[in-house]
Amino acid sequence: MNESILIIGAGHAGVQLAESLRENGHDGTITLIDQGAQQPYQRPPLSKDFVSAQEPEALPLRSEDFYTQQRIELLTGARATAVDRAARTVTLSDGQQRSYDRLVFATGARNRVLSCPGAQDPRVIGLRTLQDAENLRRQLDGAQRVVVAGAGFIGLEFAAAARARGIEATVLHSAPRVLNRSVSRQLSDWFTQAHRADGIDLRLGEGVQSIDAQEDLLVQSTAGESHRADLVVYGIGVLPNVELAEASGLACENGILVDAALRTSDERVYAVGDCANAERDGTRVRLESVQNAADQARSLARTLCGEPTLYSDVPWFWSIQGRHRLQIAGLAQPTDSSMLLGDPGSGKFSIALLRDGQLVAVESVNRAADHAAARKLLARGERITEAMLAGASLKELANATPVAA
Ligand SMILES: Cc1cc2nc3c(=O)[nH]c(=O)nc-3n(C[C@H](O)[C@H](O)[C@H](O)COP(=O)(O)OP(=O)(O)OC[C@H]3O[C@@H](n4cnc5c(N)ncnc54)[C@H](O)[C@@H]3O)c2cc1C
Repeated sequence: MNESILIIGAGHAGVQLAESLRENGHDGTITLIDQGAQQPYQRPPLSKDFVSAQEPEALPLRSEDFYTQQRIELLTGARATAVDRAARTVTLSDGQQRSYDRLVFATGARNRVLSCPGAQDPRVIGLRTLQDAENLRRQLDGAQRVVVAGAGFIGLEFAAAARARGIEATVLHSAPRVLNRSVSRQLSDWFTQAHRADGIDLRLGEGVQSIDAQEDLLVQSTAGESHRADLVVYGIGVLPNVELAEASGLACENGILVDAALRTSDERVYAVGDCANAERDGTRVRLESVQNAADQARSLARTLCGEPTLYSDVPWFWSIQGRHRLQIAGLAQPTDSSMLLGDPGSGKFSIALLRDGQLVAVESVNRAADHAAARKLLARGERITEAMLAGASLKELANATPVAA
């Protein structure tokens, strides 16, 4: 309980871990270091209210005095450049060295960069940091047309927020359906229609080939079309920040490899959040969500405070797609079968995903009650079948007395 804990990365995972360590009674030093210059902030609003100018300020993760009150040393503008696991030290960009008893990587992820010809133009922007968002918002003032590369969550959120500001938005997506890595085909099709109905020019199977920097940007697509834009925003996935861990000899593969207790192959070193590829039910999962970052941090805090804990919380996720709130509970796979709950035409419905006849995930659009019930059911690990879903609502099932799995 008196050990010194050094956390690299003061994002959603790192800050939650520092807080939960104190809540769980850790009395030793806690040092949080982050390469960003500002107070740790929330990322989700950056592609939503921050862009549509409904939220003028970055939202801090915790109040300014939180860190001093909780005796958490917060070093901003400090990049960790090397880890010596034998000496148990971390070197920072300004040359100073910090020692640790326990080290936690909470280094998150960075954007995959658009690399086609012309992508170096300053009007071509990826959205990950507050700086990116500020730059984007500045450039959006006075913009009339944007092209978005990638119809993943962030690309579509941004396009919808830009439309809400009256800006023309064209989205180019090289895959045949939107959100193809994350949601069921049915939901993907519904969002395609919903975004088109809201005036987004959504092009599927059409990627960005090159960008000609003229007075306007001229985006040439792989379908041979050209699209004019004042700026181009890309959201084409992220890469976990593993280089530092890798250089210190830790095993990495699509993230820093950790066991179900979030420990690396070095028993003094752990990883949480977007950068961690964790063991789960015999497979490996790396998730990119606030819930995963925060819940992994809470779980690890218990372990570090002497209560060994395996991370097994039900994953959940949300996205604001223009007028629509999407919430997902559980982890689906492309081969899962789907069952519609409610009427998509009403704009409020859910899709249940089943594997071997058992409920594994629920995607809800504007149906918060379904999402809450799904989380409850999945956490209980109850066997919910298609027949049960046909006979009762998720809420009714969640409120019924649980039966053994
Ligand atoms: C625009 C946007 C919108 C999003 N919307 C949603 C949403 O609606 N719902 C949702 O669930 N998730 C959303 N996400 C994803 C969510 O923000 C991430 O899953 C979450 O931030 C992960 O937390 P983390 O702490 O693992 O990583 P991060 O929050 O990325 O924090 C990692 C930190 O580590 C620092 N760092 C990295 N390397 C070093 C180093 N060597 N030295 C010092 N510091 C270092 C970085 O500067 C960064 O601050 C969104 C993300 C973005 C970018």
